Amino acid sequence: MAKKILIALDQGTTSSRAVAFDTMGHVLASHSVEFPQIFPQPGWVEHDPNAILASQITALQQTVRVGNIDVSDIAAIGITNQRETTLLWERETGKCVYNAIVWQCRRTSHMVDKLIEDGKTELIREKTGLVPDAYFSGTKLAWLLEHLQLHEKAERGELCFGTVDSFLAWHLVQGRPHVTDATNAGRTMLFNLTTQAWDDELLQLLDIPKACLPRVVDSSEIIGMLDPSILGRPIPVAAMAGDQHASLFGQACLTPGMVKNTYGTGCFMLMNTGDKLVRSNHGLLSTMAWRIGGKPTYALEGSVFMGGATIQWLRDEMKLISSAAESEVVATSVPSTGGVYLVPAFTGLGAPWWDMYSRGTLVGLTRGTGRAHVVRAALEAIAYQSADLMEAMARDCGATPGRLQVDGGASANGFLMQFQSDIMKVPVVRPQVMETTALGAALLAGLAVGVYASVEDTARVWQRDLCFEPEMPDDEREQLLKGWHRAVRRSLDWIEK
Ligand code: ADP
Repeated sequence: MAKKILIALDQGTTSSRAVAFDTMGHVLASHSVEFPQIFPQPGWVEHDPNAILASQITALQQTVRVGNIDVSDIAAIGITNQRETTLLWERETGKCVYNAIVWQCRRTSHMVDKLIEDGKTELIREKTGLVPDAYFSGTKLAWLLEHLQLHEKAERGELCFGTVDSFLAWHLVQGRPHVTDATNAGRTMLFNLTTQAWDDELLQLLDIPKACLPRVVDSSEIIGMLDPSILGRPIPVAAMAGDQHASLFGQACLTPGMVKNTYGTGCFMLMNTGDKLVRSNHGLLSTMAWRIGGKPTYALEGSVFMGGATIQWLRDEMKLISSAAESEVVATSVPSTGGVYLVPAFTGLGAPWWDMYSRGTLVGLTRGTGRAHVVRAALEAIAYQSADLMEAMARDCGATPGRLQVDGGASANGFLMQFQSDIMKVPVVRPQVMETTALGAALLAGLAVGVYASVEDTARVWQRDLCFEPEMPDDEREQLLKGWHRAVRRSLDWIEK
């Protein structure tokens, strides 16, 4: 009988998870293990590589155990991961030379400022699709090599750089392959999206020897067999993709123009642009969607820094609600915000505004403004920020998407989803399987081992759960958006430079 189980390893920023699916995408079992965050200095964030690895192995083994899964039924394993987090280890021993430097870590901001001062922004954008930023792996790796004086060792090929996908593949797959997939490579600021290869000019700019870089593989391809010591049998490890890319695939956004938005702590919106590498004029990133059969599919990406985090702020700092779910009840207890807007620019604003100097702003207050108005304004702000991203994508592509596919914790909020649909004037669709990131990795793995005959064949797994249709009259929507944009302008350029 054909093997019928696919397992995704979902290595996130705060926890490592494993999820077992049947071939129709139903979740059979999952297990999650948290691991510590290390903050050595303000603005610095690290992970212990051993904790990443141990938690991921435990999550996999426990998933198999709690799901009572017969290991011989597992067709393939796919890896999806927190992106940009940077590791460096010795080729000989596998030992990391330093903790993992996490994507959030700002320690290399000065290096990025220098690149910008030196006029390298356009070069970097042109080659990598990225806006120069300390998030991306390139300057983190350059910092490690410089700080630990490892250039010569790296030149000699004695060191391996990798993002988390690469690190896991090295440790979990027999024969220790040193590989990364194209979606992860695309977040290093070292990878040329057009040539699909490490870029010599960028490597030179950051003084990074090519000898330490992994081989770039497809997002769906058999990398090797799982080390049998982990589950007692070798199993094909057959996919790797960064979390947002896996979720785009898990949402079956397989054709150009399809868009998904994940409402987590922040929101991540990606639009499939097919084989066209679209350059944004509105501050969005160009990125890989995935690479299959050597063929790149591209995407546009934008993010909202304060998504669900705005709701956490209402709960933890303002004490206006006692749970995230309560926000919906409170918001719907009033018919509108009564003209109140909250711009949650707590850490500045991203695309399409890009103002690091803006700060949170609450406007339109009157003597009658109450808790419910503010809570409602916070939820609406998540939708407005996402609508601005969608508008930017539509302008860059010259076409408005037909619908928005959603997932993530805050997409459970019915009010937010209806308002999102109203304010964007597109249907908002929630799938039955909300584990889209893990599902995407599982589908990519299933595709590589022939469980699915083609990319299109994976799409039958995606099933609609709820659809929110736009209901708001045009004049009301325009009025609200106008108010939002006025409020955003009030928040801009607030802190002194
Ligand atoms: P992450 O993966 O970033 O940790 P999740 O997808 O688990 O995020 O979503 C958690 C976020 O969603 C939190 O910021 C929380 O405030 C928000 N959230 C969860 N449920 C709701 C809800 N019903 N309404 C609004 N926000 C919610």
